[in-house]
Amino acid sequence: MQIRLGCGRGKERKTGNGAMYKGRTVLLIEDNELNREILAAILEDSYNVIQAENGKIGLELLQKYGETISVILLDIHMPVLDGYGFLEALGGMSALYKSIPIVVTTANNADSDEIKSLEMGATDFITKPYNPYVVLKRVESIIRLRESSALLRRVERDTLTGTYSKEFFFEYAAQTIAASPNEKFDMVCWDIEAFKAINERYGLAGGNQALTFLGSVLNNFDGDATVVGRVGTDVFMMLLPHMSIEEHRKKIDEFLADMKACPVTGVNVKIGLYLDVDRDNSVPTMCDNARLAVNRVKYHYGSVFAEYDKTIRDRQKLQHQITEAMEQSLADGDFKIYLQPKYSMRNKRTEGAEALVRWIHPEIGFISPGEFIPLFERNGFISKLDAYILEEVCHSLRDWLNSGKPVVPVSVNVSRADFADPELVNKYTAIVDEHRIPHKLIHFEVTESIYAANPRHILTEVHNFRKRGFAVELDDFGSGYSSMQVLSEMEIDILKLDMSLLQNIQEYKHRCVFENILSIASNLGMNVVAEGVETEAQVEALNDMALRQTVNIYAQGYYYCRPIPTEQFEEYLRNETNFAGGGNR
Ligand code: C2E
Ligand code: MG
Ligand code: MG
Repeated sequence: MQIRLGCGRGKERKTGNGAMYKGRTVLLIEDNELNREILAAILEDSYNVIQAENGKIGLELLQKYGETISVILLDIHMPVLDGYGFLEALGGMSALYKSIPIVVTTANNADSDEIKSLEMGATDFITKPYNPYVVLKRVESIIRLRESSALLRRVERDTLTGTYSKEFFFEYAAQTIAASPNEKFDMVCWDIEAFKAINERYGLAGGNQALTFLGSVLNNFDGDATVVGRVGTDVFMMLLPHMSIEEHRKKIDEFLADMKACPVTGVNVKIGLYLDVDRDNSVPTMCDNARLAVNRVKYHYGSVFAEYDKTIRDRQKLQHQITEAMEQSLADGDFKIYLQPKYSMRNKRTEGAEALVRWIHPEIGFISPGEFIPLFERNGFISKLDAYILEEVCHSLRDWLNSGKPVVPVSVNVSRADFADPELVNKYTAIVDEHRIPHKLIHFEVTESIYAANPRHILTEVHNFRKRGFAVELDDFGSGYSSMQVLSEMEIDILKLDMSLLQNIQEYKHRCVFENILSIASNLGMNVVAEGVETEAQVEALNDMALRQTVNIYAQGYYYCRPIPTEQFEEYLRNETNFAGGGNR
């Protein structure tokens, strides 16, 4: 075996330099000593040169020096193990060795050697007799190519998980799909549930460990056309050839079994399947669809995966239509105000109303507020709509006042998104004043959720509304995680109890909770609206409690009246007033 590292001979032969790659290692495999000497002399000024006299020794050196070898110069015809034998042996070795470029040294006009060796995985060839300049340039450019592609690999791969980074995933997924025009593909989203909590519990290192493990499990998915990428902190995407849902189910079971070995406990992965992707969609859209499917099972205990299906597609379509139509609809007056009476249990008459928006689109038809309000809250359109509702309410109140019709205070819902506008209170006051409406006729309904986001800001804004004489109602109390802090800190005139609290009011425990909320409200000087009163039994229970409580209870619900158009509401009030023999509200 001959090994010589940077022996420093042959300087006079220097005709070019690999200065940029100085110090890289070149493995020379050549049986002819003279040839070896010549090559070594050309290279050793710029590189460390290791020499082997046949393929067998070459393999041994390769295993010894591994990745540190930047390029191999390989002769074809050698005793013991020739160049082909070397290439063949290399084919069976790990990717680490296979990635080292090989330049085959051949005799002039040995075309068949060149072709065969290229077929067997060689990168390039140089011909004897050696032109030092060509040798140096070729070696240099091959090293450059190798190192820049390694650099690219580092960017294309997420360093933590070894999966593709987002941009490269998009790119390679698109290429994979385009390369097989007749093949069907599935896009699968893998999302760690409550990843933030894992980070908090185990620290950043624990979170990283969970991601690394998940990445390695996903990377081990078989299949040539499988592309895996990390597209968000805790979100992975996988493109794979189409399978039936049953096959996916099996794969997911295997995946869950693999995840049991995760060094971090409590890692719940939720999976969204977008099967047989629409080729006309972009890869990011395919990913969005798979992600929408995940959202269906997120935080649903026991559910692991969901499929992107017609329900999600229809919903998406509707949301798209809504977004397209909203501005025009507002201009066309398609948003209508409905009013729902608030009935005073004590005075046995309607003493207020809530304005609820209704949207009847000429083409789409009736759209429920539950559908469009959350969407408008996300896209910001809600502030325009809410201001419009307030305008319309003021308009009606002005009309009632002018024409001597019965008048009751009307409450308007203020979305949490509206509070993002620092001028909200001034803006709303201006609208009310423009119509010369006494402030006590306008109530603003806010939900508890606004408090959580920015308590200081909300407390100030609510205070400012009240300072100007508007009453503030706290909506949907008891529907979520009601906090007592809101009650003690926020200035609230009226507490609106969510309909869920009334649902089982006949049962002792429910009744107990309800009564206690009433007494808290009473002690804090608030009145109460019971929402969603639907049955005789609920009315009786409320009446009963009203007798024993100092608090004023209002009932709002289908039992009395559904939300009705403004003109109908006027009539409703008129009838009630006539029936009660007139009277001042
Ligand atoms: P909310 O403010 O809590 O309004 C009460 C909801 O309960 C209304 O639903 C009303 O129709 C419904 N309701 C009233 N009585 C009963 C009953 O006896 N049984 C049942 N099952 N339901 C009853 P709606 O109109 O669908 O509105 C839903 C939500 O959308 C409202 O809840 C409110 O949060 C929001 N919303 C409605 N209009 C507006 C608006 O103009 N602006 C904003 N920001 N939000 C609005
Ligand atoms: Mg409300
Ligand atoms: Mg409510």
